[in-house]
Amino acid sequence: MSNSDHVCFNCQRSEMEIPVLAWRYQGQMVWVCSECMPLLIHKWQQVAEKMQPPKE
Ligand SMILES: [Zn+2]
Repeated sequence: MSNSDHVCFNCQRSEMEIPVLAWRYQGQMVWVCSECMPLLIHKWQQVAEKMQPPKE
C-alpha cells in the first residue's frame, strides 16, 4: 500500500479518510484535505509557516 503519500499536510489524514486535493507551492506538491482548505484561504500566513521546510 503506497497511498500514504496523499496525506493532508495539516491534519495528517489520508485520502482514505477524507477527500484531499493537490496544491502546488514553491514547486512542491502539497496535499490538503477538504476540511483544512479554508485555512489556506483565510489563514494563509499561519499555514505558510507550516509549509516551509525547516531551514538549517
Ligand atoms: Zn486536513
